[in-house]
Amino acid sequence: MSRRILFVDTFTCLGGAEISLLALMKHLKAGRYVPHLLTSTDGPFPGQARKADIPVSTQEFPWFSRRRPWRYALSIYQLVRIIQDSRIDLVHANCDHSLRYVMHASRLARVPYVAHVRDFVRTWFQPGKVVALNQAMRVIANSNAVAHACVQAGVAPSRVTTIYNPVDVETFRAVPATAGTQLRAEVGIPAETLVVGIVAHIQPIKGHMEFIQAAIQLADRVSDMHFLIVGAPATGESNELFLERLQARVLASEYADRFHFTGFRSDIPAVMKAIDILAVPSWAEPFGRVTVEGMASGCAIVGTEAGGLPEIVTDGVDGLLVPSRSVDALSAALYRLAVDSELRQRLAQAGRRTAQWFTITDHVEHIQALYDAVLSAH
Ligand code: UDP
Repeated sequence: MSRRILFVDTFTCLGGAEISLLALMKHLKAGRYVPHLLTSTDGPFPGQARKADIPVSTQEFPWFSRRRPWRYALSIYQLVRIIQDSRIDLVHANCDHSLRYVMHASRLARVPYVAHVRDFVRTWFQPGKVVALNQAMRVIANSNAVAHACVQAGVAPSRVTTIYNPVDVETFRAVPATAGTQLRAEVGIPAETLVVGIVAHIQPIKGHMEFIQAAIQLADRVSDMHFLIVGAPATGESNELFLERLQARVLASEYADRFHFTGFRSDIPAVMKAIDILAVPSWAEPFGRVTVEGMASGCAIVGTEAGGLPEIVTDGVDGLLVPSRSVDALSAALYRLAVDSELRQRLAQAGRRTAQWFTITDHVEHIQALYDAVLSAH
């Protein structure tokens, strides 16, 4: 008998948490669990889910307000109705904003819920949300670093399980090298040039400013190296302004013609093929899907020692790790790889093997085992 899972995520853009959830939902479909997505409005994320034939519902998730408490109560009631009308067996909260709605509605509808923590931003660990995490049957963390943050915030350790995010490793592996050559031609990078890239939604914590500064230092030392900056500003006006600052910094250097800002790309497997060295200079990455995507594609990785990255990258074995926010350390590591093609190849080869630890098949198996345990305990 198949069991029905309601996934709740109020974000509608395609961030790492949503891309990871899409992979899970698509692959559950073929098994004993049937996914249904509840989100706040239309957008790229629910659009992709619909394309994959996953049923999608939307409803408002208003903030609690003492002046209009009924709006909050009404949204919980709506959530209860969806759980009951769709005969949901288990609710899976995938974002911090939905957590308390899920807690109240699941209790009223008498179904269990699990919470999936994919970040360690403070909003996950406000007191009311820690209560909701402790009431969840299980808390899934996407890295040990995030699991540790949950426990530090007061979540009972026995509730927390680490399950790493899934990456479609095969797709990244299978893309031919010509896809990278075409992409280079499209953005104006010569075919034989060494390319260092960063692939991330543009915002300060992803380390874009450190990347640009390190790249300018590097451009001084290594002639004919190009820099690819892939991604659009994350939501918020301050991130748009941040992109302008990055571009101004590049224009003020002597090397503007060697920097390429592509904006958001939906063909990341091809993008990765155009990159020789992938920098992941985040201040603290909860997981960092792009690291595994880069590894699967054969890029040499330079990441930071913070957050979940050291759980993916072993320094000197399948990548290099540097202290976060250090321009000099980042520049030195990139230089090491730029001038040592043997090291680059050795790390890239080991990285391809590491990427195999993060397949969708393994992820789905772990999540299904967790659902099985929760449903039989309930
Ligand atoms: N990504 C994308 N297009 C872009 C930039 C990023 O599709 O232009 C994808 C990237 O391939 C990855 C995800 O966005 O799968 C980002 O996930 P990650 O865990 O690296 O960071 P997050 O955005 O969750 O902080």
